[in-house]
Amino acid sequence: MLLPDHEFSKPANLQDSLAKLANTSGEIKLLAGGTDVIFNMRGRLFNPDVLLSISELPELQGIEQLADGTVSLGAGCRLTELERHPLVRQYPGLAAGFRAVASRHVRNMATLGGNLNLDTRCWYANQTAEWREAKGRCLKTGLKVCHAIKSSDICVALNASDVAPALLALDASVVLASLKGERTVKLADYYTDDGVEHTVRRPDEIMVRVLFPKNSDRMAYIKETARKGNDFAYATIAASADGQGQQCSRVRIVLGSLTTRPVLLLKTATVIGERGLDDAAIEAAVTEVRDELGALTNLYTPAAYKGRIARVLVRKALLQLREL
Ligand SMILES: Cc1cc2nc3c(=O)[nH]c(=O)nc-3n(C[C@H](O)[C@H](O)[C@H](O)COP(=O)(O)OP(=O)(O)OC[C@H]3O[C@@H](n4cnc5c(N)ncnc54)[C@H](O)[C@@H]3O)c2cc1C
Repeated sequence: MLLPDHEFSKPANLQDSLAKLANTSGEIKLLAGGTDVIFNMRGRLFNPDVLLSISELPELQGIEQLADGTVSLGAGCRLTELERHPLVRQYPGLAAGFRAVASRHVRNMATLGGNLNLDTRCWYANQTAEWREAKGRCLKTGLKVCHAIKSSDICVALNASDVAPALLALDASVVLASLKGERTVKLADYYTDDGVEHTVRRPDEIMVRVLFPKNSDRMAYIKETARKGNDFAYATIAASADGQGQQCSRVRIVLGSLTTRPVLLLKTATVIGERGLDDAAIEAAVTEVRDELGALTNLYTPAAYKGRIARVLVRKALLQLREL
């Protein structure tokens, strides 16, 4: 299907891109690798007046370790470049998160910023325009109706980023630039419960880089899909811990692709942080999972399945973590 009419803009630097973003009156959409945006525009999920290409901005490139040990990843870096980089390879759980996305072809184009800002997905909205018209619009497409949860006044589409859970387990932050300057936001505070405005990024901002503190924690990363290869997840998990064997005190457990935002399981992690990674503690932690997830939808998989796979993945990830 042809793309809808639009203006294509590709400024040479970040400053000009931010100026274009701030001074355009119609709807404007950032375009990085385009692996999701172009697909959705062909499906008429959105029809921006302007596509602002940012994938080759020099200010969004670079993978480096800063003087204090912090790791800095440019938001415009391609996932293939990231997954292969020696600095990223020091964090095998993160490299697994990059490798989990789609196929090699997609990862050659797709960027880190595009993955972290991936528009939320819904079984009712991510369809052809004809399908959507037949069913009727929803909160994502201009009406105050949710087909997934009839009583919901906010969109409950799912966050399907495979990379976000791994970066959350590393306690990452994102740097957002606008004409007013830069601000840093913890990734844990970046996502919202609203599938339409699903991040706290303001319309005049561009994500420029991702930062996470140097650490030597172990991390287990698992992605569960219907088919191996080119598929969105039924669920993902990233679990990290300090220490060795059963001994640990600092634990982070993050589930992705089950709700509108990736979920940091704080109570579940506290059980392991206090009791360690023995079998009884792992089973006690698993019992906390369902409550921490909150309301679940039947989008793509039934809610009961989502609850079950979450518990299964937490157990699996914690058992793996113990062996790392
Ligand atoms: C066949 C197929 C399979 C896929 N499978 C997976 C999968 O398994 N897992 C997965 O996670 N994804 C998957 N995807 C979705 C997508 O390819 C990836 O998430 C990819 O990383 C998106 O990156 P991109 O650079 O192409 O983003 P784009 O499509 O260019 O942009 C995605 C969103 O991010 C915004 N954006 C981009 N860069 C920035 C920035 N720097 N600052 C602020 N906003 C920004 C855009 O405006 C847009 O809203 C799949 C896509 C396809 C086509």
